[in-house]
Amino acid sequence: MPQTSCDVAIVGGSIAGLRAAQTVARHAPDLTIAMISDETYPPYERPPLSKVGLTKPLLLDALIYPAVNDLKSHGVNFMLGTRAEELDVEGRTIRHSSGALQYRSLVVATGCEAVMPPALSGLPDVFSLRRYEDAISFRRALADPLKSVAIVGAGFIGGELASMVANEGRQVALVDLARKPLGRFGDAVFRSYEALHRGAGIELHFGEQVTDVVQQGNGSRVLKLSDGTKVPADVIVVGVGVRPSTEWLKRSGLRLENGIVCDGTLRAADHVFAAGDAVRWPNRRWGAEMRVEHWTNAAEQGRVAGVNAANDILGSPLEVCANIPYFWSDQHGVRIQFSGHRAGDEEIAESRNSGGSLFLYRKGEIVTGVLAFERRADFVKIRTMLKSELSWQAASSLISREDL
Ligand SMILES: Cc1cc2nc3c(=O)[nH]c(=O)nc-3n(C[C@H](O)[C@H](O)[C@H](O)COP(=O)(O)OP(=O)(O)OC[C@H]3O[C@@H](n4cnc5c(N)ncnc54)[C@H](O)[C@@H]3O)c2cc1C
Repeated sequence: MPQTSCDVAIVGGSIAGLRAAQTVARHAPDLTIAMISDETYPPYERPPLSKVGLTKPLLLDALIYPAVNDLKSHGVNFMLGTRAEELDVEGRTIRHSSGALQYRSLVVATGCEAVMPPALSGLPDVFSLRRYEDAISFRRALADPLKSVAIVGAGFIGGELASMVANEGRQVALVDLARKPLGRFGDAVFRSYEALHRGAGIELHFGEQVTDVVQQGNGSRVLKLSDGTKVPADVIVVGVGVRPSTEWLKRSGLRLENGIVCDGTLRAADHVFAAGDAVRWPNRRWGAEMRVEHWTNAAEQGRVAGVNAANDILGSPLEVCANIPYFWSDQHGVRIQFSGHRAGDEEIAESRNSGGSLFLYRKGEIVTGVLAFERRADFVKIRTMLKSELSWQAASSLISREDL
């Protein structure tokens, strides 16, 4: 088995891995970098996979991050189509599908993979959406406008897909086991979310379980739900969640508990740092341990893990990762955004006007987060202020009194 070596190894070729590579290249340009990714494409943007309209082309070249070219010129070794299979922390070696890679410091950025319920796994025209090829297969299956579409899972990806399909004037059903999808952000947020989809003509089946998938005599297919309803489902897209891609680390000795457990500097073990969707770490900004499955966090952690992987070699102090989780989602022409941290026991103050809705999460006199349907300017102001401790008085003064 061929063995190669580098200063900084990065496993995972998406946004966290890319940002780590960019940061090392900038921060310590003399260090050699290798990136192992089991995808055959260089790092590309995932968010457009559930947002680009079905009738528009989804071109890989337009999705690949422009920074990839700079990194190639810098000499980064992109080991694409290569699967990391085992990590030897003591020996600082990654065993992978075509050999082994030795490193001085490592960034693990293997992210997450989509969960597929066993009852739906292996059936024709059933898709999850995580990678470019998933999106291409799903779009191909939808090319026949007569095919019915059911989406199982009404989280952000399910909601975006429902919006994408409905936007083409097609009938789509959205099914979720939870009675109140997005209810973790509060009942009022759930109601806004429900109204958004209902208003766009989506058939909603919340609080129902899929009990069977039935192929009918006429060639069409339906999902049978726990209340007995039959939902047309020639094409099924599943968005019921993801799990950290950490199987390959099972024997590494790293602590794996619904993610790679790291300290505040994203350090998982000697000379090993981690970044992105797969990471569980204590976020000092909130005094809470968390794992975040959103793009901005993965980018920010990629930067910190990159600095720290380089500093580990240079003998410089490590940086702490204390950030403000943020996500956005685009559904039916409405941008939904959240910033902050919701533990679950905060009071929620609601502000609605013709520009949209704003929800402020409040613990005593402190604002811990903000969620908005549109209201982009208000949202940006509060998101910016959340960079430091934000008092209720300061946040509420930004919104006109009659809105609250
Ligand atoms: C369709 C879609 C839409 C999204 N939209 C939004 C949005 O609107 N807003 C938002 O905030 N977030 C969004 N997200 C989430 C966001 O894309 C993720 O948070 C982000 O991609 C996480 O980046 P990551 O680098 O941690 O991991 P990932 O993107 O999961 O990438 C991990 C990489 O590691 C590779 N890998 C895994 N295991 C191995 C191994 N053993 N060996 C080699 N390589 C391996 C994978 O193939 C992959 O390339 C969306 C995600 C999807 C799928």
